[in-house]
Amino acid sequence: MTSLVRDLINTVRGAGDTSHSVDPHMQRVLDQLAELHGQAIENLDVPRARLQPSPTDAVAALLRADGKNSSPEALIPGVEAEDRSIPAAGATLSARIYTPPGNGPFPLIVYFHGGGWVIADKDTYDASARGLSAAAGAVVVSVDYRRAPEHHFPTAWNDAIAAYDWVAANAASLEGDPQRIALAGESAGGNLAVATAIAARNRGAHKALAVLAVYPIAQTGNTETESYDDSANAKPLNKAMIGWFLDKLITNPNDKADTRLDLINADLVGLPPVTIINAEIDPLRSDGEMLETALKEAGVEVTRKVYSGVTHEFFSMAAVLPKAQEAVQFAGDQLQRVFSGAVHTGAVHTGAVHTGSQPRGRLEPKDHAAAKIKVIGYAAKHSFSDLKPFDFEREAARADEIEIDVLFCGVCHSDIHQIKNEWHNTVYPCVPGHEVVGRVSRVGSAVTRHAVGDMVGVGCMIDSCRQCEPCLAGDENYCEGPNSWLATYNGPMIPAAKAAGGTNMYERDNTFGGYSSMLVVQEDFALKIPANLRPEVAAPILCAGVTTYSPLKHWGVKPGDRVGIIGFGGLGDMAAKLARAMGAEVTLFTTTKEKLAEAGRLGATAVLESDEDALAALHGKFDFMLSTIPQRHDINPYIALLKRDKTVCIVGALEPMESINNQGVAFHRKNIAGSFIGSLQDTQEVLDFCAQHDIGPDIELINIDQVNAAVKRAIDGEVRFRSVINMASIKPDPRNASVEDAAIFVTE
Ligand code: NDP
Repeated sequence: MTSLVRDLINTVRGAGDTSHSVDPHMQRVLDQLAELHGQAIENLDVPRARLQPSPTDAVAALLRADGKNSSPEALIPGVEAEDRSIPAAGATLSARIYTPPGNGPFPLIVYFHGGGWVIADKDTYDASARGLSAAAGAVVVSVDYRRAPEHHFPTAWNDAIAAYDWVAANAASLEGDPQRIALAGESAGGNLAVATAIAARNRGAHKALAVLAVYPIAQTGNTETESYDDSANAKPLNKAMIGWFLDKLITNPNDKADTRLDLINADLVGLPPVTIINAEIDPLRSDGEMLETALKEAGVEVTRKVYSGVTHEFFSMAAVLPKAQEAVQFAGDQLQRVFSGAVHTGAVHTGAVHTGSQPRGRLEPKDHAAAKIKVIGYAAKHSFSDLKPFDFEREAARADEIEIDVLFCGVCHSDIHQIKNEWHNTVYPCVPGHEVVGRVSRVGSAVTRHAVGDMVGVGCMIDSCRQCEPCLAGDENYCEGPNSWLATYNGPMIPAAKAAGGTNMYERDNTFGGYSSMLVVQEDFALKIPANLRPEVAAPILCAGVTTYSPLKHWGVKPGDRVGIIGFGGLGDMAAKLARAMGAEVTLFTTTKEKLAEAGRLGATAVLESDEDALAALHGKFDFMLSTIPQRHDINPYIALLKRDKTVCIVGALEPMESINNQGVAFHRKNIAGSFIGSLQDTQEVLDFCAQHDIGPDIELINIDQVNAAVKRAIDGEVRFRSVINMASIKPDPRNASVEDAAIFVTE
């Protein structure tokens, strides 16, 4: 093995990375490419870069070395190719039309080659386009869009749309069926395919039936992804080349945020099914994964396959690489399924299907028909996104609803679970916030409980079915209606897709929460904030307060009881204060040493969860325990601390737990329970209880632009104990006060 080849293998594997082993057929191509002595594209000017040997040249050289015919017609027999001109604004584009054997009309695929929008053309990618034509039984139109730097962003995107329109308009002359058009592309062309599908969706005419994106460039915001890291020095594409391409493409750094380029932040809802193909050893592998997530979260049907041991550009190497043959056939099969009508091509929006539903009797006609209110919020677009400003509209209050100017909103750990889709039910865009306090700004004509100017609070629920047994018993938080209760954000607890008969009784699939300038709420679901409770302190009581108050009340905690609170965060802080105010002796169980001292301030003792001796000394001592730990954990050590017949209630982890040793439960007839927020009555009670006992959460007041940092601090366990957003900071009105610095309020 030459040292050059050895170096190349090391390079392919990525600096210091040994996790990717290279497929032997792939290795042959890479060795051959190395023998062609190309120079590093990222160090060249554009004319010289375009002259460098490509993987296509390496494949041809290998075929010749093997004594095989390397002509395209010999490699993929039966597909006819003919070049045509396509008009675009200010240019004529050259395109190659590939027609499969058989009789038309054929389905059509508009295909965009790769090359970073700078190098390569339809000749370089002939094998891919030709192979797709054969595999999908479709006419493929491969387009030479205009390249940078002669034509900067977004010329190629405009050319792609022009080509797509031309194909739709000229389908008959191509032996094609204008009703069956798909988009496909590789690398930079994969990006163009998705972007063109979005443009077609936006116009509503000639929507594409499917998209094939082979290792697409899908985002420009994060160059520290896993694959940018582990394949930084891969061949034939490395991280530096992608930077070089973008540098040639754009004239303004802001172009990188344009969602034609930064696809994962585009509005993807309503796109047709997308197939993504990735290579394992490729800096763009994570782009494919992020695009897959973004599409899924937008409700788009997406299939992604990652081929192991192969690199960028492998898709065009079917003549010498079995994995490429597999991938081309897979792509063809995926497209054929759609062309044959076997796949539903409308957007499948998870949990977001309007059904016509069952209108409820209590809904009254709007007292000012269809009035809309512009609202500013902060939303996460995807599970991997930060919260960013988001403009949307709310319907003005109906007769029985009130409008609230949001003043403060707590940052609960549930918001974090939802932003990051850790409960696998988030509907995006996601405007979190369910610890909301604000002032009533307008009331519907039938409202009796609230008046303009009242200070009110909204917790996790903004409606429920009101007809089921739990609702009638005042347990709305356990609503058994077909869609359960309507959450303040993220829509019904049971979305239409999971509801019996596919119903959506609330006629809303996504609701937007309190990280916003105003809310509209059914009047019964707004609670009264007692006058002596500071509104910013009241906010976390709407969730952290009631979630802990409700089980303390339900299991009858009384003076003299010994209560253990596991996890000393936002819920733990409230639980300890409430239990103390109920007369209980409180012990906090924490993983954080510094919190041992902080517990004393609440009149509680604290124990490190890892202190086995301290835990052993507490066996059989507790009347009630409440776990607020936000994830799966081992509850067995705490079962041991309960007295006979007593209960440990888990509110933190809403997911499968570590297994339970039933000996510890059965031998002393103990109970393990769960509890879910609290009813409207419990919520009002806990607000009044806090006001009466002069207790409330410790809070850190922040501006909305600090919310992403607050989320991170909560995950890192640094918040004491609840971040509360001063929502005045979201409003563009300069007269609104802005909090200069985070302030800390401590309530004893
Ligand atoms: P916080 O992040 O404010 O506090 C959680 C605390 O749990 C941390 O401060 C830490 O306390 C402890 N903790 C965190 N990770 C671990 C771990 N891996 N092992 C042991 N302890 C850990 O969260 P919140 O109090 O806002 O929320 C807690 C949970 O309750 C969340 O999962 C939330 O979704 C859930 N929740 C459930 C509701 C329901 O209705 N059942 C309603 C509202 C919230 P320490 O430093 O003391 O160890």
